[in-house]
Amino acid sequence: MSPAETAARIREVEAAVRETALRCGRDPGTVRLVGVTKTVPAERVREAYDAGLRRFGENYVQEALGKMDLLPPDAEWHFIGHLQSNKAKFVAGAFALLHTLDRPSLADALEKVAAARGVTQPVLLQANLAGEETKEGTTAEGVLTLARRAAEWPHLAVRGLMALPPYEEDAERSRPHFRALRELAGRVRSLGLPGVEMAELSMGMSHDYTVAIEEGATLVRVGTALFGARAAGA
Ligand SMILES: *Cc1c(COP(=O)(O)O)cnc(C)c1O
Repeated sequence: MSPAETAARIREVEAAVRETALRCGRDPGTVRLVGVTKTVPAERVREAYDAGLRRFGENYVQEALGKMDLLPPDAEWHFIGHLQSNKAKFVAGAFALLHTLDRPSLADALEKVAAARGVTQPVLLQANLAGEETKEGTTAEGVLTLARRAAEWPHLAVRGLMALPPYEEDAERSRPHFRALRELAGRVRSLGLPGVEMAELSMGMSHDYTVAIEEGATLVRVGTALFGARAAGA
């Protein structure tokens, strides 16, 4: 894909995000596009930056760190992959937002590193409400437990929820999953826990981000629609 085509696709997705937000009565400024760049070579990520994209989502720590070094410092990096606790040291303080906090042991590991560095790491709690065994994320109860325990992790700032629901060919069938995440955020909010914000809902990917926006997404994670198909298994 040429730089011009990448730029055109960014414009296209940005326009669709904006139009969808307006159509459902939302302020377009409340929906942000995260370009998912896993397996996308650094020079193409740079082209996307030059075309105006500023938020990048990465799934693998080493790959992300390599690209961070090559982009200007105003690029905003989001960690959206499964994070092993022993890699917390690479993430705390390095990413604008970790989307995938799904267990107390990972929160403990992140807290330790963030405290030692004197930083606060913004995080989302990852829910797996469909109970898919092959996927990361915790149950609704697990999310509530993490939120209730947030005070134990003063160097983590809980900003909202993230989900990666089952793939549905028909995007309309993702809607109940997105709605369930929004409702769970409402439950967490109603607990009124100090230091726990439910401002962000990270949901929606290339094929279903418009439905996610209709259901309240504030961060849509879009890869293929911007960068083309990835190699199988990536
Ligand atoms: C790969 C990935 C995406 C992007 O998926 P596309 O279908 O390519 O838009 C979004 N979120 C997560 C967590 C991913 O791993």
